[in-house]
Amino acid sequence: MQFETIPHPAPTSDAAREAAVADPGFGTVFTDHMVTIDYDEEKGGWHSAQIGPRQPIPLDPASSVLHYAQEIFEGMKAFPHADGGLAMFRPRANAERFNASARRMAMPELPEDLFLEAVRLAVKTDAKWMPNVDGGSLYIRPFMFASEAFLGVRPATQYKFVVIICSSGSYFKGGVNPVKIWVSQNHVRAAIGGTGAAKTGGNYAASLVPQAEAIEKGCDQVVFLDAAEHKWVEELGGMNLFFVRRDGSVITPPLTGTILPGITRDSLIEMLREEGLTLREEPYSIDQWREEAESGELLETLACGTAAVVTPVGTVASPDGEFTIGTGGIGQMAMKMREKLVGLQHGRIADKHDWVMRL
Ligand SMILES: *Cc1c(COP(=O)(O)O)cnc(C)c1O
Repeated sequence: MQFETIPHPAPTSDAAREAAVADPGFGTVFTDHMVTIDYDEEKGGWHSAQIGPRQPIPLDPASSVLHYAQEIFEGMKAFPHADGGLAMFRPRANAERFNASARRMAMPELPEDLFLEAVRLAVKTDAKWMPNVDGGSLYIRPFMFASEAFLGVRPATQYKFVVIICSSGSYFKGGVNPVKIWVSQNHVRAAIGGTGAAKTGGNYAASLVPQAEAIEKGCDQVVFLDAAEHKWVEELGGMNLFFVRRDGSVITPPLTGTILPGITRDSLIEMLREEGLTLREEPYSIDQWREEAESGELLETLACGTAAVVTPVGTVASPDGEFTIGTGGIGQMAMKMREKLVGLQHGRIADKHDWVMRL
């Protein structure tokens, strides 16, 4: 498919862009362009691929995404390399996961190569928005929503795929900090047979009340337990978990359909095995978490995802009280895995897995 280029009528000046990316934070400094591709069942599928100015998208008030939330997204980053080039980390895994999410939400799949081409084109077009700060990256947000104007309940026949980019500073201002997390006891994120494994906005909508409760309790993030027994630890609102134990084993909850299959999670599974640790994907209960933290059997708990890479969990709080993991500080394995992943992404460590795609 050919991408039509729509010239930007008034691109951001160099001075304004440089000011904006000097300290971009996360999620608010957007680049000048976006990619859009439309889908219409009647027109034979995907058509009208464009790169053009980033601008509001006109939506009919009956567009089904506004009523029934047929929507999916991805989150990925482009990193600067020392030679001035750019690279992405396992972008094909994002393309595959995007289509897995599409299938669960009864949406059309986007050919993987088209997804990758759209992302590459967006990044190349706005490469100069890369912040020149340590740990800076371009955060890429591909997404798709049902645009058909129709109030009946069925999968839409029209969709829009969009790629936007924001300039992103280091997630860890002032260094890596252990997070304090709140155990949600009244709310669940996902149930067996539900949409927990799809990257869809509705899962995030469901997490907002418990996340607000976590903040109110003085915590940074919420951790969800399974919906059936309220016993098994699943994941945070947007990060997967690993439990590093004294006996050389590491446990991460298995992918049973209620957990988002993180690409960072998948990478860590391989990297931890390469460290000689015994990695097991098996259920881990909230009671086991507390007991092993208190006995000292649990050395570290790691939270991981594209945005924050690897973050140590310091303290876990619930209505039953709190417990601390290790010293409550930053564990060795968290630091080691974080440095390895960041090193790979920035091209400072040899990439034997073929995970890094140069642009
Ligand atoms: C995106 C996401 C993750 C992390 O996935 P990565 O591919 O590692 O960024 C974890 N949990 C949820 C709920 C997510 O949406």
